[in-house]
Amino acid sequence: MSRGPNPRKANGSARRKLRDAVRAEGLPCALCGMPIDYSLPAGDPMSYELDEIVPVSKGGSPFERANVQPAHRICNQRKGNKTAPKPPDSRPNDETEKFPPSREWGAQRPRERP
Ligand SMILES: [Zn+2]
Repeated sequence: MSRGPNPRKANGSARRKLRDAVRAEGLPCALCGMPIDYSLPAGDPMSYELDEIVPVSKGGSPFERANVQPAHRICNQRKGNKTAPKPPDSRPNDETEKFPPSREWGAQRPRERP
């Protein structure tokens, strides 16, 4: 195997190196605390995945040990779903409550005329 630097492969191998380094630490899942079976094949829900603590989309580095942790694939996916907070369903109701009954409307908005 040649080990010459290849810019096109640099990111992939840096990531793979980090993946292997974290795997070698043998730590439990950072998200649920359960041990990870590092021998499971990639794609298995309980297999090992590298999880970014600060998402890359928020400026985190996917290549720094300080910003990654081991996690189960399924835990990582669950977390991924959670990071996009959705407004509660009650929001539209609050919106309608802000509007007073129609007869009070004119009195409360004296500056509406051009
Ligand atoms: Zn887990």
